[in-house]
Amino acid sequence: MKILVTGGAGYVGSHCVRGLCDADHEVVVYDDLRAGHREAVDKRATLVEAGLADLPVLEKTVKGAGFEAVMHFAASLDVGESVKHPLDYYENNMVNTVRLLRVMEQHQITKFVFSSTCAIYGIPESVPITEVMSQSPINPYGHTKLAMEWAMRDSAVGWGLGCCALRYFNAAGAASDGTLGEDHDPELHLIPIVLQVALGQREKVRIYGVDYPTHDGTCVRDYTHVEDLASAHLLAIESQQTGCFRCFNVGTGVGSTVKDILEAAREVTGHPIPAKPAPRRPGDPPELYADPTEIMSKLGWKPKYTDIRQTVRTAWQWHQAHPHGFQSE
Ligand code: UDP
Repeated sequence: MKILVTGGAGYVGSHCVRGLCDADHEVVVYDDLRAGHREAVDKRATLVEAGLADLPVLEKTVKGAGFEAVMHFAASLDVGESVKHPLDYYENNMVNTVRLLRVMEQHQITKFVFSSTCAIYGIPESVPITEVMSQSPINPYGHTKLAMEWAMRDSAVGWGLGCCALRYFNAAGAASDGTLGEDHDPELHLIPIVLQVALGQREKVRIYGVDYPTHDGTCVRDYTHVEDLASAHLLAIESQQTGCFRCFNVGTGVGSTVKDILEAAREVTGHPIPAKPAPRRPGDPPELYADPTEIMSKLGWKPKYTDIRQTVRTAWQWHQAHPHGFQSE
């Protein structure tokens, strides 16, 4: 299949592009490289360096090119920033996605896989989270992602779009061969921060909240290996029919606390990784982990990484070899 991958130079996108190329799909990456990295783009894919707001380039890329499908990763994803600058999020995550869908409608590209998020559930009524639980996001980031799921549902009915929203939990880890990994600036995610302490690049980990109603007082998340996320995308796109909307939680079903991550990282790195309690981060739900039954039964997806230590080990391999991200090369 010929597939356009927006945000294919980013963390999850680049791992998916590699998976698509391995499966012999023809991939065009569309990325403005503001957050993505040229070095992360698989050599077998073609890179178009542009943003979705650049409609003439988007149209030129798509017109007559014979794309069958689009995978859409390009988005802004910092929850805290989305609270401070909501319109940037509505602009990038909604306006640009609508633009992309419109171009797809015009050119009759009817298969679409979308990076959604467990943030659409807000503070869930219970865990593990199933797809039918109530969806009431608590920040602009989650609002924009949920709104785009609605645009997808409506497009399925209105013009025959075949689409799948993959609701990620916490993407984690790095390619098992150590050549692709997480490189955000600034880095906000727990596992890379913990490993930066192990590398001596930061002094301590700040644990945001130690009084949550969880077994050790710290937040629970479902850390899902990025290669397992990539395999979910491959299964979703290859099974996608036109004229329907599907949504799946993509998580391991296993929750780990912040302290569990610290312990795993101490074991993997052999470093003491000092940590200190810090105030709760606003908007952090105490516990988020997936019930992955739907994606397992409907797509046959099965995560390869279910032990958090294995996931942390792949991230450690990446961070050691690339202490300054892709710029280390
Ligand atoms: N966290 C933390 N210290 C940090 C970064 C994150 O305690 O320096 C916690 C955060 O409060 C959350 C978990 O680690 O409970 C995962 O946070 P991350 O930002 O990686 O992902 P999120 O769950 O926000 O998408």
